[in-house]
Amino acid sequence: MSETLLACRDCGQLHRAADALLPGHRLACVRCGSSLSRYPPIPLDAALALAATMLILFLLANVYPIFVVSLEGRAGQDLLISGPLRLSEYGGPFAGLGMLVAGLSFVVPIAWMCLVVSVLAGLRWGDRALHARFAPLWKTALLLYPWGMLDVYLLGTYVAYTRLAQSVETTVATGGYALGALVLVQALLVLTVGQQRVWDLIADPRRFAPRPGEPWIACEVCQLVAAVPAPDMPHAAQRCPRCASRLEPRRRGSLAATLALTTAGTILYLPANLLPVMTLVRFGRVGTYTILGGVEELLLLGLWPLALLVFFASIVVPMAKLISLAWFLHMIRRRSGRWLRQRTRLYRLIDFVGRWSNIDVFMVSILAASLQFGLLTAVDPEPGIVSFAAVVALTMLASTTFDPRLMWDAGEGDAA
Ligand SMILES: [Zn+2]
Ligand SMILES: [Zn+2]
Repeated sequence: MSETLLACRDCGQLHRAADALLPGHRLACVRCGSSLSRYPPIPLDAALALAATMLILFLLANVYPIFVVSLEGRAGQDLLISGPLRLSEYGGPFAGLGMLVAGLSFVVPIAWMCLVVSVLAGLRWGDRALHARFAPLWKTALLLYPWGMLDVYLLGTYVAYTRLAQSVETTVATGGYALGALVLVQALLVLTVGQQRVWDLIADPRRFAPRPGEPWIACEVCQLVAAVPAPDMPHAAQRCPRCASRLEPRRRGSLAATLALTTAGTILYLPANLLPVMTLVRFGRVGTYTILGGVEELLLLGLWPLALLVFFASIVVPMAKLISLAWFLHMIRRRSGRWLRQRTRLYRLIDFVGRWSNIDVFMVSILAASLQFGLLTAVDPEPGIVSFAAVVALTMLASTTFDPRLMWDAGEGDAA
């Protein structure tokens, strides 16, 4: 029986698994406990059907309004693209924010869906000999995935909708239902596709397995364990034979980049929380809101579950990310071996939840787009939201550049 080699992406531990890849089985790393590989027990055709459904739902979510607002006989509507268009009218940094929102809620999701459909359809119907050609497409899809934020956008829409419903008549429209269904289908797709299964269909990892005793290296992108290329080999040989990513023992420049991004995020955290993020004009009365002010407003309206959610996503999560990353860097510097498992788990958690901090960015964009009734009722974005979006983006980049295996490397000699 041929065995499959698996290297843990969190601590670098190598595993030899004989029957590793049985459908439905989950393997955990013996050293840090992280999940290694999982083959969902559902055929890939199901994932392909879900991906195709997503494209149709995305079309509906773009053509029809997400919700309709009406005030004193005048009506406004919110399309997926309304927010970015409205923000671009303000110019300057707000136009940049508009582009960010358009990227996260429109460009990246549609690109991701097209890539997933092409790869799955290609593996389903394409010539087996040509499967390797899908490697760059699948690599791009995995890279884009965390930046496609329709799920976060949906929650932002819900918060915006709930706040609007307090002052104007608001109705969910076809686009809103399509967006809700889309997020559900996407969650099912991510659960059923099995990214490692797709990689193994693109190219069987056993073809590239190092001989026993030969030094090995794990590809960070496709998790392939391959023989270490000799330093005098040509440039192309220094790349992963499956996905062509650079083969490096650890992410290069990880610590310096994480430190720089974390520092920048910490500096911007203050203006992001102290400056107002939006102005709300309601029947001639003008109120400005900070991030915390928005949470207070939700509390005053009696919407405490929503207030708690926004408080966690907007205030607790970015701060927890900055503190955790600073702690990881400090522990690596001290070459400490304490709490390695806990630190690894915390790293995966902050890396996973970080994107949800964008709820407020989307909410301000949606409110600005849909509430434009002149002096009567209108929302304008304020500079705080630009700093806030920058903090979220910087902390996401910081946790992406951080290589958790460095914590294990540094703590190796430490008995504690
Ligand atoms: Zn591990
Ligand atoms: Zn690779």
